[in-house]
Amino acid sequence: MLTRRDALKVAAGSAAALLVPAAARAADGPAPGFTLPPLPYAYDALEPHIDAKTMEIHHDRHHKAYVDNLNAALKDLPEWKTKSIDAVIENLKSFPESVRTAVRNNGGGHYNHTQFWTVMKKNGGGQPTGDLLKAIETAFGSFDGFQKAFTDAAMKRFGSGWAWLVPGGEKGLSITNSPNQDNPVMEGKAGPILGVDVWEHAYYLKYQNKRADYLKAWWNVVNWDQVAANYAAAHKR
Ligand code: MN
Repeated sequence: MLTRRDALKVAAGSAAALLVPAAARAADGPAPGFTLPPLPYAYDALEPHIDAKTMEIHHDRHHKAYVDNLNAALKDLPEWKTKSIDAVIENLKSFPESVRTAVRNNGGGHYNHTQFWTVMKKNGGGQPTGDLLKAIETAFGSFDGFQKAFTDAAMKRFGSGWAWLVPGGEKGLSITNSPNQDNPVMEGKAGPILGVDVWEHAYYLKYQNKRADYLKAWWNVVNWDQVAANYAAAHKR
């Protein structure tokens, strides 16, 4: 029979086990590596602007493939599997050449999509307020001026890639774009506070080749609260 003291020990033991990170619990086997974060809303939350089927395929297949392929590329580099995705893409030069491109493409894909889901929401859109609006007006003259410049950067990205709003620089905020799954972090710049995916997989089912129509619709789902939080966090660093 368990004494009260033994029972407490058992209870404390199981509570402690729950607090140990998965990576440490799996110390005997290979590190579990990066995981696909759940979509923070239903697949159809962004309808009619972004359709449910696109969201399902984009998250469950495309993003999942980046995570799986990143873990595969890190198979023989378990020390990287316990680091943050930021650390991975900030240090691409540290990786052996044999896996560097795979880490760049799939690590970038994981970083970019992880943020992308959070900067969209149901009933989003409109304009930011407060400090972020002020910063946008300072950098781009007006919110409309910003929207036009950001859309332009997204339109002019030839082929697949992303457009970004990045903190820092002379005017406090700047707009840039990247090919493939690259992003400003890989160039040693600050992490973007907003990004838009202009790979065809992000819009082809509903908009086919009409990237301009997708971007016009996308502004209706932007989660400005999250972008403002990203902006505030960037200024605390
Ligand atoms: Mn994508």
